[in-house]
Amino acid sequence: KHIAAAPKIPSLGSSREKNGRRILVFVRARPLTKKETETGARCCVRIMDRRDVYLTEFAAEKDYLRLKRLRGRHFTFDASFPHSATQQEVYSATTSELVEAVLQGRNGSVFCYGATGAGKTYTMLGTVENPGVMVLAIKHLFSKIRMRSCDGNHAIHLSYLEVYNETVRDLLSPGKPLVLREDKQGIVAAGLTQYRAYSTDEVMALLQQGNQNRTTEPTRANETSSRSHAILQVLVEYRVRDGAMNINKMGKLSLIDLAGSERALATDQRTIRSLEGANINRSLLALSSCINALVEGKKHIPYRNSKLTQLLKDSLGGSCNTVMIANISPSNLSFGETQNTLHWADRAKEIRTKAYNANEDVLRVPETETDQVKLVLELQKEN
Ligand code: ADP
Ligand code: MG
Repeated sequence: KHIAAAPKIPSLGSSREKNGRRILVFVRARPLTKKETETGARCCVRIMDRRDVYLTEFAAEKDYLRLKRLRGRHFTFDASFPHSATQQEVYSATTSELVEAVLQGRNGSVFCYGATGAGKTYTMLGTVENPGVMVLAIKHLFSKIRMRSCDGNHAIHLSYLEVYNETVRDLLSPGKPLVLREDKQGIVAAGLTQYRAYSTDEVMALLQQGNQNRTTEPTRANETSSRSHAILQVLVEYRVRDGAMNINKMGKLSLIDLAGSERALATDQRTIRSLEGANINRSLLALSSCINALVEGKKHIPYRNSKLTQLLKDSLGGSCNTVMIANISPSNLSFGETQNTLHWADRAKEIRTKAYNANEDVLRVPETETDQVKLVLELQKEN
């Protein structure tokens, strides 16, 4: 039996093209849940060679060569993960290079997009036994920093926030809605908690607690449906000496668990729900229209149309490395949503972003060794 070798997963370098870099787009199919299997759901998604996604309405289809002939039902992405892919595998292929880039002072962002129940939160946060991208990224950062000798020069700060119903909330310190302000760093949520992290161990508990604080409400479509977008911002600050100069560097990694992409009208709890739905659509629609504007190379990108896109202004276009993970359910009962998600992801492949531009400030050089020590102490105190 011939088994095709897995294709090499593209690196950020290979996505660098003449007209700017394109964003990397991945697809991940989750396994059928127990409940789905019990209710007779069948698998309608087939992933071949870790790249191609075939979608068929007929669960009985066995021969993927026949599926190949179905027009419009075949998609190709930078990599596609079948249900058997591990969290580590998904992390290594999608996010680990972004983490390396953040340590060079470049911003990066990873989005999970898909319908409710498609596996976004599992991919981003995961479980204690199988931690997801958020936790693995922080683990990776700490291990890299420990490998460097200038340990004391690094600081990692975490912020975790949600956009729900066009309101921004701090997930690490729930309370009043936060106001967005524009400063020279871009759009910031005033008063947002910046949690200084010292080790990976504390992070999972912190993020799980934050996730508990997310606004989730039962709908008829899915009892754990989440109508909020969650954004984890990981800020890495450090100083490096380059010849006679001290360079102050900062890299920001944004990890985004988007709200369910299904149409709000699919659930029929009108009144309040429809308002919420409209706002969810507003944020997701605004994200889609920003993506369209970026795809078309427009000068004006309508970031201002929603809270989500305002917050993501520096994480979508610009000089940011962007990765999109489209989560899909393999169940034939979710066929329509899966198809919508795949079309959306296909469109996202066309986004081009600008060239790299590391965030750095050149500082004055300390005169003596003691000044160097003072500088380090000062930096530690600041943090
Ligand atoms: P979403 O956040 O998109 O609404 P979840 O991440 O909550 O969806 O996933 C729905 C259910 O499927 C959860 O019970 C989750 O544990 C499970 N699940 C999702 N992806 C996987 C996966 N790759 N492997 C195993 N279970 C998964
Ligand atoms: Mg979720």
